[in-house]
Amino acid sequence: MPSTLEQFLLTQIREKGPISLGSFMGHALSHPEYGYYSAGDPFGVEGDFTTAPEISQMFGEMIGAWLIDIWMQMGQPAPFALLELGPGRGTLMADILRVAKGAPGFLDAAQIHLVEMSPLLQDKQKQALRGYGVQWHTHLDDVPEEGPVLIIGNEFLDALPVEQLKRTENGWQKRVIQASQNGSLELSWGDAEQALISLLPAKTQSNEVYEVSPARHNFALKCAGMIRKCTGAALFLDYGYIRRHHGDTVQAVRAHKFVDVLDKVGESDLTAHIDFETLRTLVEEQDMRVPPVVTQRAFLRTLGIDHRAQMLKNAALKQFPHHVARQKISQIDAALDRLTAPDQMGDLFKVFCFYSHANQMSPAGF
Ligand code: SAH
Repeated sequence: MPSTLEQFLLTQIREKGPISLGSFMGHALSHPEYGYYSAGDPFGVEGDFTTAPEISQMFGEMIGAWLIDIWMQMGQPAPFALLELGPGRGTLMADILRVAKGAPGFLDAAQIHLVEMSPLLQDKQKQALRGYGVQWHTHLDDVPEEGPVLIIGNEFLDALPVEQLKRTENGWQKRVIQASQNGSLELSWGDAEQALISLLPAKTQSNEVYEVSPARHNFALKCAGMIRKCTGAALFLDYGYIRRHHGDTVQAVRAHKFVDVLDKVGESDLTAHIDFETLRTLVEEQDMRVPPVVTQRAFLRTLGIDHRAQMLKNAALKQFPHHVARQKISQIDAALDRLTAPDQMGDLFKVFCFYSHANQMSPAGF
């Protein structure tokens, strides 16, 4: 039985012809009724995947420390906008705000804005952030541009659709989804339009797959525009490449396992790796300062995650009977390992930052 979303897509294809991979990803993730993020809570052990904030409070605490530091470097502006894109369950923001209680003036000055398209996840975020004044927006365009802004996004950029292009003897082709003979969805290639071709790197090889993401471009440009106008900084953590790369990176994950991209459409998470070199160049052209992209491991360790883990372990020893403390300590060690070990999230995940010229800032961790 095709899923409801699959039936919707097959009807679209029957009426209007094959759809691009990007449009397919857009529907699969964000269709208002059947899209992956609209229909359920995908996070955690019982869900499909676990993100860094869900692994340990230490992650959010490090991001919180980074934000407080940059806010101080900016001269402690009040008010300022604290803006998170795609906050999931709201765990990262909750950890940030808990840490920020220790920074006099920060919470009073922060106007918290969350951009989240899924009503279901907005509800989760409301529960996680009860007691704080938070404004929710479905689109980034709805966030007011009033004053200095600090923007964060963890595993947000990877959830935005990509298109795949390939140069063949028939010119540039783009990946499309069409209906097969037996009425299911199948991958194919169709002619690519100039708007997509113009996003490709200057040098390309025939028959290799290149990914471009107009959606990521738009978000990065919009964030850079806000920061240029109002001053501030942005911090994005996600998996991808520091140097431009080619190849197919689109992947589907369900219940912590890789599955076929066309299998049970709308019921698995679809993501693609980020090409950070392209995004860096893009925001540099928007007059942003852009330090070199670093690994999550390097970033979190420079910010002091090892020290923080040690503090939590010491606290566990004081607080709990020995056998419970031992258990807590091994949980803290395991979480630290997942976040920073090179064979876990440490090297695959990268940290990308850009900020305005106006302030003499030097963001921590780069
Ligand atoms: N930052 C969270 C969740 C990452 S998953 C964490 O680290 O746990 C991606 C998040 O982005 C989800 O909350 C999803 O609903 C949201 N999202 C994806 N595409 C979006 C878009 N175009 N606009 C707004 N939110 C989006």
